Amino acid sequence: VGGCHLVFDAGTGAIPCGVELCRSAERPSRVHLFLSHLHHDHVEGLRHFEPAYSPGWECWIFGPGTAGIGLARALGMLMQSPWFPKPMRSLPARIVVRKLPPTVHVVFARPKPFFLPARTAPPADVPVVTARHVRAHPKPGVTLYRLNYRGRTVVYATDVDLARWPQAEFVQFARRADVVILDAQYSSPEEPRQLPQRPSQWGHTSVRAAAEAAREADVGELVLFHHDPRRSDAEITDFERVARTVFPATRAAREGMELQLR
Ligand SMILES: [Zn+2]
Ligand SMILES: [Zn+2]
Repeated sequence: VGGCHLVFDAGTGAIPCGVELCRSAERPSRVHLFLSHLHHDHVEGLRHFEPAYSPGWECWIFGPGTAGIGLARALGMLMQSPWFPKPMRSLPARIVVRKLPPTVHVVFARPKPFFLPARTAPPADVPVVTARHVRAHPKPGVTLYRLNYRGRTVVYATDVDLARWPQAEFVQFARRADVVILDAQYSSPEEPRQLPQRPSQWGHTSVRAAAEAAREADVGELVLFHHDPRRSDAEITDFERVARTVFPATRAAREGMELQLR
């Protein structure tokens, strides 16, 4: 986006993403990773993120604070022995960790990104990521992101339970975005209570609630995200069908999916 590499979360998809970044870059560059939270499924790919192993690269990692530990230390723990043989501080790339305030704009002006208070109107001619931390996901909450560049907007809102976050606030955050990539893990609000591994509060949203929120926020397109790994392709297709009865411009995220915004 606007000459910046922006990556949202670092699940296993970050592994091919990192390979592609290094392969396509003419020279070592800088990549910015925005973490929603530190649950395993969002940081699993970090340990094998190729730019971090490539001399000359810079990896800037943004994410929410982690109560009592600190973001940099919590990330370092992911790579500690006995769980991993290569400590983060030994990586050849320059790693910069930036803890995000609960609400903030990250402005990608040169030579390096800076923070602007959320109440300030951000510039429109450079990429801006607006972060908003909410408690609607089991401890310690989750950060949602809204990326804006030259009038185009993408919202990335994963691991959020819209039954626990007032819909009006979500609608305000996602208002008129071109694309909203939204948690829609459950087939129904009752599903978590039927899962073998209780408790019921895993902090996700049902497909119908996601579609209703997208309709309410008047967005361009809804992308259903955070599929349960046990779900079959046929079930995901069924999710699309259900969501489209509420909000027709819906599709389910698939590995390798490309969305072009011009
Ligand atoms: Zn989570
Ligand atoms: Zn998750």
